[in-house]
Amino acid sequence: MVKAVRGFKDILPGEAEKWCYLERLACKYFRAYSFQEIRIPILEKTELFARSIGQATDIVEKEMYTFLDRNKESLTLRPEATAGICRALIEHGLYAKAKVIKLYTIGPMFRHERPQKGRLRQFHQIDAEVFGSHSAGTDAEIILLAWEILTAGGAKGLRMEINSLGCPQCRPRFRDALQEFLEQSKAKLCEDCQRRTQKNPLRALDCKNENCQKLYEKAPLIEDFWCSACREHFLEVQQYLKQWNLVYEINPRLVRGLDYYVRTTFEIKAPQLGAQDTVAAGGRYDGLVKALGGPDIPGIGFAIGIERFLLVAQLPDLTPRLDLYAIPLGKRAYMTLLPVVQNLRQEGLMVELDHEGRSLKALLKQANKLKAKAALILGDNELDQGIVLLRNMETGRQKELPLEPQKELLKRLQQELGAPCDS
Ligand code: ATP
Ligand code: MG
Repeated sequence: MVKAVRGFKDILPGEAEKWCYLERLACKYFRAYSFQEIRIPILEKTELFARSIGQATDIVEKEMYTFLDRNKESLTLRPEATAGICRALIEHGLYAKAKVIKLYTIGPMFRHERPQKGRLRQFHQIDAEVFGSHSAGTDAEIILLAWEILTAGGAKGLRMEINSLGCPQCRPRFRDALQEFLEQSKAKLCEDCQRRTQKNPLRALDCKNENCQKLYEKAPLIEDFWCSACREHFLEVQQYLKQWNLVYEINPRLVRGLDYYVRTTFEIKAPQLGAQDTVAAGGRYDGLVKALGGPDIPGIGFAIGIERFLLVAQLPDLTPRLDLYAIPLGKRAYMTLLPVVQNLRQEGLMVELDHEGRSLKALLKQANKLKAKAALILGDNELDQGIVLLRNMETGRQKELPLEPQKELLKRLQQELGAPCDS
């Protein structure tokens, strides 16, 4: 038997309802914040990610699903959405349509990592990006949006951590100081960090190794290197966050694994998740669009990992409830019920119809199991009398409704059944 690829998971009935719920919830918030949806391809040219994410990152160094297609072109399954959205923004000149463009997308991402709790090879993100604004207000708004989506999903115990990574004016001095620090401690660093020291020293701060983390408690702090513009920008972000009543912590060692981040960066963590506790992460990437061949417009965004979101979400009971189980007893009854069922479904009611000719007893049992609100029973007797039975499955009480005129019957059924269970 052929099984699914390691790190790729089926989302089965029962689970899928939760996904749908969270995705709809996110869409509701994106709408409220006046974001527009964009859908980008899952496959891009490898070059796009190599140029945008940066060579010396975990993703590009070792996590990408890259392969040659039949034309010997190097393609990659997207490891994140930002690069593809930037590409689309440039390719279609979307930036010319408004000063500020707010986009979101929801879908699968692919990274060849070691599968474990909260870490898959195909995982899913709710992703938001804003282009065209340098304002600290935008940073605060994006942070708030990520927070509100997660809390609306009932996520408990969340912590918001923020930091500023400085800008091309001030970060190089920090990078040098950090590099010097790392070189002095070189012998004690893990293999990855030894490599990062040369290629991407900031990335070392994000190391998962405990020894390294201990050492980095004494590492230089970015805040001592911010230029005055970056310092002011960060203070302004915090001023707005406070006005929005958002509780945050400043984590001076918070860096992003991706090269293109500048200034505001943030992560939302759920410590109860253990090793993989970052549910959402984001930040500002002002130079990225230009680096990809577009105009010099700033960007900021975030991604929520849906698998981790689900681990902390508290959702209402999502078991689907049938509005009506239609039970025809015999072919004549079956034919009569077909247009009735069709009409009710068009009205948005969830209706199940038996095609198997099972017995009344078996079907009532089934209707109970599916938690149907009501059953519609039609047999030869009822047909002869020109009626149909509507049985309330909770009380067991039955009502006789006239079959004709059908318009009247449909109206009565809708009155009796009320609003759809899953509206
Ligand atoms: P980590 O430090 O956990 O590797 P990252 O920095 O690689 O995270 P980002 O690229 O910032 O993660 O992705 C944003 C979010 O996407 C993460 O916070 C997480 O919720 C989710 N995510 C990232 N990689 C995976 C994965 N392999 N499996 C499941 N979710 C993931
Ligand atoms: Mg990672």
